[in-house]
Amino acid sequence: RLRRELASWSGPGATRDGHRVRLLANVHDGVSARAAAQAPVEGVGLFRTEICFLDESVEPPVEVQTEAYAEVLDAFGPERPVVIRTLDAGSDKPLAFANQADEDNPALGVRGLRLAGVNPGLLDRQLEAIRAAARSTGTTPRVMAPMVATVAEARGFADKVHALGLEAGVMIEVPSAAILARRLLEFVDFLSIGTNDLTQYTMAADRTAGSLAHLTDPWQPAVLTLVSIAAEAGRRADRSVGVCGEAAADPDLAAVLVGMGVTSLSMAPAAVAGVGRRLSRSTMQACEEAATAALGTADPVEARAAARAILEI
Ligand code: PEP
Ligand code: MG
Repeated sequence: RLRRELASWSGPGATRDGHRVRLLANVHDGVSARAAAQAPVEGVGLFRTEICFLDESVEPPVEVQTEAYAEVLDAFGPERPVVIRTLDAGSDKPLAFANQADEDNPALGVRGLRLAGVNPGLLDRQLEAIRAAARSTGTTPRVMAPMVATVAEARGFADKVHALGLEAGVMIEVPSAAILARRLLEFVDFLSIGTNDLTQYTMAADRTAGSLAHLTDPWQPAVLTLVSIAAEAGRRADRSVGVCGEAAADPDLAAVLVGMGVTSLSMAPAAVAGVGRRLSRSTMQACEEAATAALGTADPVEARAAARAILEI
């Protein structure tokens, strides 16, 4: 029966009582975007541009970048918006042309938007390519930066993106950004919570270390608390706050995130039906109660159980 239910789920995302939640896809190139466009999603919440260029040893010229971005924009067309993330090079995704090879601690090093501080041309050329791709496809992507840690970084990034006539957002994946979400929203149009890195940095636990899986669990109440701070900031400013980390693909956790005020969930296309189904079976009030219950627990096992007990009533 479940398989039939999943197969039959066709969107759009909403709770049982009609509270809308945009369900979006994570993509990384034209091929993945064309596949994702077949799913019942309202757009792309995370286009990981660095994945397009993992094998390149020199920076791809603007024309080559433009072509790569246009393929993804074309797959979704003008009706389903795409959030393009600027290069998140470094740490688990090093780019030979962008990163220094000799960092002692690359997860805490010059990665993501920090690269623009040492190589501003890299970001400027990428933004130029994004603008060209938007024009050639007749679409209006939104642009967001990874690894933002300060209000000044968000302001500087937003100024550049707004100068192109596009909406700007930042990822919330460093605890400082979650704590300052309200102030970031004075400069950016939207926030997108990257729970993979937010968990890693909140818990001081390497996201690639299997032996630390109990710590790198987005159900950790400390992580949920930071998510709720960012979601609440969005609610007060009437701005969208999405989640694009793995947490968005866990149906029970997705319901908890919605209960905190998260407005969109972006995930691998294979996860969309399961999340859509779970939301369609829960009221907004149940999601809110599940969020409150999870926040009050002592560890991820308790948090999941507490949320499930409420969502399964
Ligand atoms: C995240 O950190 O949650 C995220 C979505 O970005 P990435 O997984 O690409 O680091
Ligand atoms: Mg990340």
